[in-house]
Amino acid sequence: MHRTATKLADGRELVYFDQAAGAVRDVRDERPLEPAASLSEIRLDPVLGEWVTVAAHRQQRTYRPPAGECPLCPSRDGRLSEIPAADYEVAVFENRFPSLAPGSAEHVAARDAPLHTLRPGNGRCEVVCFTSDHDASFADLDEARARLVLDAWTDRTAELSALPGVRQVYCFENRGEEIGVTLAHPHGQIYAFPFVPSRTTRMIARAEAHRDRTGRNLFEDLLAAEQDTPERLVLRGEHWIAFVPFAARWPYEVHLYPKRRVADLTELTEPERAEFPGLYLDLLRRFDALFPAPPGAAPNRTPYISAWHQAPRTGGGQLALHLELFTVRRAPGKLKYLAGVESGMDAFVTDVSPEQAASRLREAALG
Ligand SMILES: [Zn+2]
Repeated sequence: MHRTATKLADGRELVYFDQAAGAVRDVRDERPLEPAASLSEIRLDPVLGEWVTVAAHRQQRTYRPPAGECPLCPSRDGRLSEIPAADYEVAVFENRFPSLAPGSAEHVAARDAPLHTLRPGNGRCEVVCFTSDHDASFADLDEARARLVLDAWTDRTAELSALPGVRQVYCFENRGEEIGVTLAHPHGQIYAFPFVPSRTTRMIARAEAHRDRTGRNLFEDLLAAEQDTPERLVLRGEHWIAFVPFAARWPYEVHLYPKRRVADLTELTEPERAEFPGLYLDLLRRFDALFPAPPGAAPNRTPYISAWHQAPRTGGGQLALHLELFTVRRAPGKLKYLAGVESGMDAFVTDVSPEQAASRLREAALG
């Protein structure tokens, strides 16, 4: 992997990742861009103990631009986008409309009142472009490109974790209008949080309680149990295992774990990294194959969220790196909405049994 770090016209960082060692990335960003003010703040919900990010400055962000004005396409034919190069393999840059931004402390003062705790949203948000091909999707990438994306996620995890104030790095992809994606170009995002999100905090608390009770690691026990549960297994490689969790929340949900417990992407070994692309692409293609398009229609693209769970910088010794992949689609043309029970009470109800979901995912024709 070859990495070139550069800056955009307004000072934001852009990093190119190329497969070839000698790749030259020296095109300058010629746009007349002024640095954007970051007004992000995080507020602690005193009742739930969860942080909420308030990013009121994001309302002006780009919303569903026509394909010819895509900010993630390369800069070509006189049109300047977020990526100055005329082509690229994988490119990562700081979001111009970030939810969390390193400069927030200059504009937002911390407050420590017991019921009104507020901090500047001093994190960082990055955009990861998986390919310069506007019409592709992650599932269309070849294994070498998927590996390059894994290397980019790993690089960003190491670099962002080292920034002052960053507590946890979260790499994810939202795919599909149904998920609320505003840019069709294949891309993911990375959030460097200045706090540990409550879902991670709950996982760590469960794992620590399990260790105190049994002397063992929760995730290692979980993987051992799921390896022996063929009805929920989806894929098994030499180094990774993918299964539908026992209490899956979403109609189709798969968790992909390295068999050896590691805290984050930076701890994966070369054999583990080498096997990941094939398995992950296989899973994504199975998701697309769940809901075949009618004859003559464009191929189905199942909306999904793909979320890497990594240990926070400190205090996450019991957590295991894993990827959670799920779709909101429960049947052709039917979506699972988070309504009163889920949104009102954080209590999920699902119409698809996890064992049926795993069976369908095992049978899904390979793309
Ligand atoms: Zn594009």
